[in-house]
Amino acid sequence: MSHPRTLAEVVRQGLCTGCGLCQSMSGPNRICLEMTADGFLRPRIRGPLPAGEERRILSACPGNRQRATAEPGAAVDPLWGPIKRLARGQATDEGMRFNAASGGVISALASYLLASGEVEAVLHTRADPTQALRSVPQVSRGLQGVMEATGARYGPAAPLTALETMLAAGKPFAVVGKPCDIAALRNLARLDPRVDRLARYRIAFFCAGVSSLGISQAIVGKYGLTEDQVRLMRYRGHGCPGPTRIESKDGRVFEQSYDETWGNELAQEIQFRCKICPDATGEQADIACGDAWITADGYAHGEYESWNAVIARTAAGEALLARMERDGKLNLLPNTVAELNRMQPHQGERKMAILARLGGLALAGQPRPRYAGLRILHAAWIGRRSFFRNLLGTLRRLRHGANREAEPARGA
Ligand SMILES: Cc1cc2nc3c(=O)[nH]c(=O)nc-3n(C[C@H](O)[C@H](O)[C@H](O)COP(=O)(O)OP(=O)(O)OC[C@H]3O[C@@H](n4cnc5c(N)ncnc54)[C@H](O)[C@@H]3O)c2cc1C
Ligand code: SF4
Repeated sequence: MSHPRTLAEVVRQGLCTGCGLCQSMSGPNRICLEMTADGFLRPRIRGPLPAGEERRILSACPGNRQRATAEPGAAVDPLWGPIKRLARGQATDEGMRFNAASGGVISALASYLLASGEVEAVLHTRADPTQALRSVPQVSRGLQGVMEATGARYGPAAPLTALETMLAAGKPFAVVGKPCDIAALRNLARLDPRVDRLARYRIAFFCAGVSSLGISQAIVGKYGLTEDQVRLMRYRGHGCPGPTRIESKDGRVFEQSYDETWGNELAQEIQFRCKICPDATGEQADIACGDAWITADGYAHGEYESWNAVIARTAAGEALLARMERDGKLNLLPNTVAELNRMQPHQGERKMAILARLGGLALAGQPRPRYAGLRILHAAWIGRRSFFRNLLGTLRRLRHGANREAEPARGA
């Protein structure tokens, strides 16, 4: 067995990213993303899928397939992918920069595209207004919406559940998401001509993986709170990275450092699919952004100036950065791949480990996604000294069922 043949298999074998594309393609009456007992968003298959529909969804599902192509003329770094322009950047708007996860570049991009009329809406993600630990898709049509969605929503988020509504509206829009959300969008573009016509810009952030909702519940649990007692859960932002802030409905406030939240807690329970992700830096986006601090181990241990690492990966992304720089919306400074390696050492290490991890799945007879154009072999060669360690580690984790998830729920 090498690749998944059904959606149920994608889920059961730990390959689902939780992007929500299957719900968008089939409609919520047939497939609907739901929070599982393990704390991840997974499809519930509510009724029989018409002949051919499952095949169509599977060919767009990033749990099954990820295929990247670089535009002609882009330099392609073996670890970092296509690069048209590499910069260190920040929003010039101070409020945006303060509220945002890092330097506010993504929110600045979103608000510039809306204000200039290049897109009519931006599809991204915000905290669920009624369940503060959870996240929901946000369709922003102006600055207020963009500001509501600033910051990083750790834990499960499925922005693409709202994609069909955007496509059906027939108006140009931009999508902000995790690299796997953008990969799903690119997959769908190969099947649905509306995608390239309407989804004008794809913006990704670097991603270390999706953590379980259970971890967020455990964080608030440390302060004696249950999920439904929480009014606000801000993982970071209001600084760079800013503290994690929890506000209870009865007015109590708790803060802990981002270092504690990410380093000690969220990173401890990342879904399996993220461990075999060959594209954690948004190679298929027009622009990808990450953190830009430089520390001895790559993690944040304090507060830093609000900057993003910024990669324009396509001509459209490069031109957008240039327009925003000209219009005074972004400060952009030169950056180099060597600096990027120092800002984000873990992303290079992850990329180098993917072939060994896929090899572990193959040796264990477990299905894996189809990947193309992501230079997995080249990256593994660069990191060849750790190949066998990663291979054996994966085999050990698979023996303990690391990739096993429950069968997707069925029925209404
Ligand atoms: C799950 C997760 C993993 C991350 N891992 C890394 C990492 O490995 N390295 C790194 O440098 N940075 C990581 N980040 C942080 C992220 O890269 C920074 O937020 C990025 O630099 C963007 O900063 P900004 O100031 O431009 O963002 P902002 O201007 O605050 O904009 C962030 C945008 O991302 C959208 N968004 C937030 N959470 C989600 C989500 N879960 N799914 C889809 N869209 C979302 C928001 O709607 C908003 O539009 C992670 C964030 C998340 C949510
Ligand atoms: S990866 Fe996305 S499209 Fe595939 S099953 Fe999971 S939610 Fe659906």
